[in-house]
Amino acid sequence: MKLFRHSEDRLPVGIILFYFLLDLCVYAFVDSIVWLVSWFLLGIFPKTNVCVWNHNHHHCRTFHHPWMNRLLEIVYGFQTGMLASTWTLHHIHGHHRHYLDQNRDTSRWQAGGTTIGLWRYIAEGLFLTYPRAIAIACQRPKLLRRYLIELSASLGILLALTVYRPLPALCVFWLPMFASLIVTMRATYYHHLELDLENPMAASRNVVDSKWLNILTGNIGYHTAHHHKCGLHWSKLPQLHKELEPLIPAHCYTRTVPIYYWIDHLDRLLSRVCQPLRRRPACRSRTQHSSDTAQ
Ligand SMILES: [Zn+2]
Repeated sequence: MKLFRHSEDRLPVGIILFYFLLDLCVYAFVDSIVWLVSWFLLGIFPKTNVCVWNHNHHHCRTFHHPWMNRLLEIVYGFQTGMLASTWTLHHIHGHHRHYLDQNRDTSRWQAGGTTIGLWRYIAEGLFLTYPRAIAIACQRPKLLRRYLIELSASLGILLALTVYRPLPALCVFWLPMFASLIVTMRATYYHHLELDLENPMAASRNVVDSKWLNILTGNIGYHTAHHHKCGLHWSKLPQLHKELEPLIPAHCYTRTVPIYYWIDHLDRLLSRVCQPLRRRPACRSRTQHSSDTAQ
């Protein structure tokens, strides 16, 4: 029985589910405030990446079976603060459809024709994401009903976990959800900031030269391609980007943030160190082969 719609999702989703299992263990067995706070702080970066995988899942569902997708959405929601179908409503219906119209874009970088600051954008993301998602769902009664049921289920489980063990629930679920939302908002602010509002090829910022940003986020750096075909699976975005490349202006490329830059740097350093080690056995087998043939 095939569970995954795309085999490329197996590894990232497997890692994310294992990480959630660790979260549950920490919630259930750790009482020390020092360890709980350390777990929260260590989780900020990985959970921000999980937020992008949550986004990718809502664009292109992971499993064949709807009930498995709903369960995965509960896991994603607890790790990232984007519960149930919030990504679908706020991001796909609100942002992707209207990102060129700043009066209707739910992730708008403009208000009244002027650019808003980063902190206002983050505050709007924190306090208005759910009201905006519900406002969109209100225009679609069938979706609203489903959304409210799923949201209630996630919140019900979260509240039960909080009542049972308040401090671990705060550090393992509530704080990471807020932190993940804040960091995600900070990243998305720059995706379209002060770019073209008429030409879609000039409306998004791309980061294509960071290997690890694109590995850890499922190719979010190929942002023009993502907006061009938002239902396309993340693994196919680099190929689509190649086709669109001649149309994307140079100013729509940018560098990654320091954390991915340093991971890339470390990766290059390690491969430089390991290269001679990898070469040596090959050389040895070649020498061996020539001595064998000489005999
Ligand atoms: Zn998207």
